[in-house]
Amino acid sequence: MAKIFCIANQKGGVGKTTTAINLSAGLALLDQRVLLIDLDPQGNSTMGSGIDKHQVESSVYQVLIGHNTIKKSKYHSKSGGYDVVPANRNLAGAEIELVDFDGRETLLRKAIEEVLDDYDFILIDCPPALSLLTLNGLCAANGVIVPMQCEYFALEGLSDLVNSIKQVHANLNADLKVIGLLRVMFDPRMALQTQVSDQLIKHFGDKVFSTIIPRNVRLAEAPSYGVPGVVYDKNSRGAKAYVAFGAEMIERIKTL
Ligand code: ATP
Ligand code: MG
Repeated sequence: MAKIFCIANQKGGVGKTTTAINLSAGLALLDQRVLLIDLDPQGNSTMGSGIDKHQVESSVYQVLIGHNTIKKSKYHSKSGGYDVVPANRNLAGAEIELVDFDGRETLLRKAIEEVLDDYDFILIDCPPALSLLTLNGLCAANGVIVPMQCEYFALEGLSDLVNSIKQVHANLNADLKVIGLLRVMFDPRMALQTQVSDQLIKHFGDKVFSTIIPRNVRLAEAPSYGVPGVVYDKNSRGAKAYVAFGAEMIERIKTL
């Protein structure tokens, strides 16, 4: 049965989508069956997986409002070797439309049930907000992966996210936990980054993944080709780090 992970951080531009795409592709390279659900109206995970968000017939929006199923809304990323439930601008209206739905926080969780046996990992790329969409991701997941840059304000935002996760854990999804904090875009030459990284380990201990994702321009170039970085330049430092992170996740789920 699939393990489900939300990739969340309400801060924008911290590497959620890059992590979603490259962890999916890294796990696929390690022979895991992966479904990536794009839960962000920006549709960056969709495009970065080589699927044109403007051309899709069904998306996660149709899934959430109950007009279609995941099985009928998934596409295969040829470049990445995993399946994708795409997102596009339709999803932007969902936030308001869903307000009157019964069980509006658990729509995604219910939709995922039919594919649980088809995958080893289901990853959910969340938008940069603690919104109803993110709440649907948190309610569906076994755990949260939090990508973060080791900068001063990173720690401040983290407590809001951790509080939201605690609330969801208490009220909606007793299964939910923070799986780990992933240090991304890391540059060891910057003293502040090393200091924040040390602080993270002091506060969160083994909740900090041992894999560190370096700042690497190949990871930033890849999306414009619709190819995950781990495939675009498999020998780059960024690619190797994400495959190593995939291996760390495979080990980590054995302890869940
Ligand atoms: P949003 O909150 O808008 O959804 P995000 O958290 O999903 O953003 P990304 O889109 O993954 O963040 O990354 C933000 C920018 O940083 C992108 O241009 C991406 O290519 C770049 N980037 C992400 N990770 C790395 C890295 N390890 N090295 C270099 N550039 C990176
Ligand atoms: Mg994103």
